[in-house]
Amino acid sequence: MHVIVIGAGVGGLAVARRLLADGHTVRVFEKAPERRTGGAALTIFGNGAAVLSDLGIDLEGVGGRIDRIDARTASGRLRTSMDLAHTAETFGFPTRSISRRRIVDLLSDGLPDDLIRYGTGCVGVTHDADSATARFDDGTTAVGDLVVGADGIHSVVRRQLWGDDTVRPASFGTWQGLSPIDIDITDTTLHYMITGKEGACGLIPAGPGLLQWWFDVRWKPTDPRPDAPLDMLRRRFGHWAYPVPEVLASATEDDLDFFGHRWNKVRRVWGEGRVTLLGDSAHTMPPTLGQGANQTFEDAWVLGRELADESRSVPDRLRAYELARYPRVNLVSQMAKRNPANIRIPPILGRRVPETAQTKLLGRFSNRLNEGPLPTGGRVPSDAARA
Ligand SMILES: Cc1cc2nc3c(=O)[nH]c(=O)nc-3n(C[C@H](O)[C@H](O)[C@H](O)COP(=O)(O)OP(=O)(O)OC[C@H]3O[C@@H](n4cnc5c(N)ncnc54)[C@H](O)[C@@H]3O)c2cc1C
Repeated sequence: MHVIVIGAGVGGLAVARRLLADGHTVRVFEKAPERRTGGAALTIFGNGAAVLSDLGIDLEGVGGRIDRIDARTASGRLRTSMDLAHTAETFGFPTRSISRRRIVDLLSDGLPDDLIRYGTGCVGVTHDADSATARFDDGTTAVGDLVVGADGIHSVVRRQLWGDDTVRPASFGTWQGLSPIDIDITDTTLHYMITGKEGACGLIPAGPGLLQWWFDVRWKPTDPRPDAPLDMLRRRFGHWAYPVPEVLASATEDDLDFFGHRWNKVRRVWGEGRVTLLGDSAHTMPPTLGQGANQTFEDAWVLGRELADESRSVPDRLRAYELARYPRVNLVSQMAKRNPANIRIPPILGRRVPETAQTKLLGRFSNRLNEGPLPTGGRVPSDAARA
């Protein structure tokens, strides 16, 4: 089949990779003039890593491995500790924090040079019984058997299918960066999650010498951007216990990115006829669980599986993909939204939670994410696939 993908983010690249491997012809159209290089780091959990492995991407030695999350108070007291290593033991794929740039590079490796047309923004799609057509801002069109809208939070394809205002602002926003900052956890497998009344902070090793750091603060879309965001963060979080002031002292304005959190109610049916959605365009969620990209990779894998069923029409295969994805994505999205202040904040505040209880809760959730219709199918893969 001839597949047109709108957007060359992690979702567009993952689905292009999967569909090319299945023998389809794929063309990707990207609004940006060139490959994305920013965006700090993404945490790739076992479910996302399983899909990437299936796409031929080996994450061994890439970024920073995370085996434990320590949740601390602003004063430095340990609230609880969560063991992530057990998921790697059960399902074979460790959790890793990897720069977005590196993930994009890995997803792009080996793809045909002329696969992606940069600087080409989609402005609309149409479809009929036989084909689907994407229209672009340079006046050109592309016709295929189907169109996949992988064009992110502000998706043009979704707006055309669902109308405006289906994605709503949530109540927090993230200031984040990825920089060479030397604190005691930088070259370890330990991730700190620190919470206090001023907001939340995450510190995550992301490869040799590199630290991914984020600060979540209350936010609404009408808030003006501060003139000196780093000064604002230093004023707000600078009195927290080690290592927060040290991180803020080492960070620079150049490292800083801001993202307001947004959310949409996940629908059972995402597309129409020969048009579907994939990734954030279908399920925008706050990054509180670090699952947005992981769920996007799952989309790519399931879409490939459903398109392989040649006994059904193209629209039926697309609706089967959307229905298959609904329960999992809806669960994750609801969980990411339900705790607007951050699911990163342990549910029982104020007192120390035993690690076993916390690990069990996290374990149950991550087992649920790793089981089911994924390449691992809930089993530890062969030694060769294990990282
Ligand atoms: C602060 C923050 C931290 C996060 N941390 C994590 C994490 O740790 N782990 C995790 O799993 N997820 C995380 N996420 C979520 C993750 O970034 C997204 O879920 C993921 O990027 C979705 O991929 P996508 O391909 O659907 O969209 P995107 O990555 O946004 O890609 C969409 C692409 O479409 C292009 N595009 C847009 N409009 C058009 C158009 N009209 N025509 C053509 N191209 C177009 C864009 O330029 C872009 O390249 C985080 C998100 C944020 C904001």
